[in-house]
Amino acid sequence: MHTAYISHPSFLLHSMGDWHPESPERLRAIEDRLHAARLFDYLTHLEAPSVQRSQLLRVHDAAYIDFVEASSPSEGLRALDPDTSMNPHTLEAARHAAGGAVMAVDRVMRGEVGNAFVACRPPGHHATRNRAMGFCFFNNVAVAVAHALEAHGLARVAIVDFDVHHGNGSEDIFKDDPRVMLCSTFQHPFYPFCGADTARDNIVNVPLPAGTAGDAYREAFSAKIMPHLEAHRPQMLFCSAGFDGHREDEMAQFGLVEADYVWITEQVMGVAARHAEGRIVSLLEGGYDLSALGRSATMHIKTLAAL
Ligand SMILES: [Zn+2]
Repeated sequence: MHTAYISHPSFLLHSMGDWHPESPERLRAIEDRLHAARLFDYLTHLEAPSVQRSQLLRVHDAAYIDFVEASSPSEGLRALDPDTSMNPHTLEAARHAAGGAVMAVDRVMRGEVGNAFVACRPPGHHATRNRAMGFCFFNNVAVAVAHALEAHGLARVAIVDFDVHHGNGSEDIFKDDPRVMLCSTFQHPFYPFCGADTARDNIVNVPLPAGTAGDAYREAFSAKIMPHLEAHRPQMLFCSAGFDGHREDEMAQFGLVEADYVWITEQVMGVAARHAEGRIVSLLEGGYDLSALGRSATMHIKTLAAL
């Protein structure tokens, strides 16, 4: 079974300023590494469609969608948050990022590909039901999850969010939906400064201190996440795939390396094989050191593709 690699030209046009770490260069770094590793041509390349408003409305308030649309500038940048701005291409990129998430679910559910990686910008896991923040506008993984539930009738799914930041937007959207289990590992205390004391059966938050490296990370993941994932028996798995926990990434202070991302991917694939017929949709979130991001995302995709 093939792995889909879903992208769209607009993902390279969304920019929040030359200084901003969430840059178009991130996607170029991933694709450069996929080429260097001779993996690029073995993936099923798909162009992300634009999301439908009805698909966004499953996870975002109508007034918020209207606000993002109305905020789209005709030139320059418009800030929705101190570190989250729109340029004239951002709205199109955000629509295609969420649309790529929907496409990934459809292709995997139909069995056309075994799993899928959406190389999307802007990322999504900080976007709440009614707020843009942390470089995110529409919550792509939430849009994908809601599509799997509502359009494909799944009863149980799980998100594994291994970005170094807490997936607060995904928690906000699904905290009262027992069909969705969110498992999020994150540096704490750290941006967005929440998630350490959430008390919900379907939200499995694992705050970890600065300096956490591979062994301690794997131990925490094995002890605190795997039992919950197995018990939930998800029919599809979703990765909020952030690579900003890499030891070379200066955005945060984790000490993960490529081998750790391979290991995490294998854990998710194991759960998917046991409960979900292998179905995994992975979406790019963070990762800001270009070399570490390119190497880590490539190893994640190589593992997904069993290449
Ligand atoms: Zn992050």
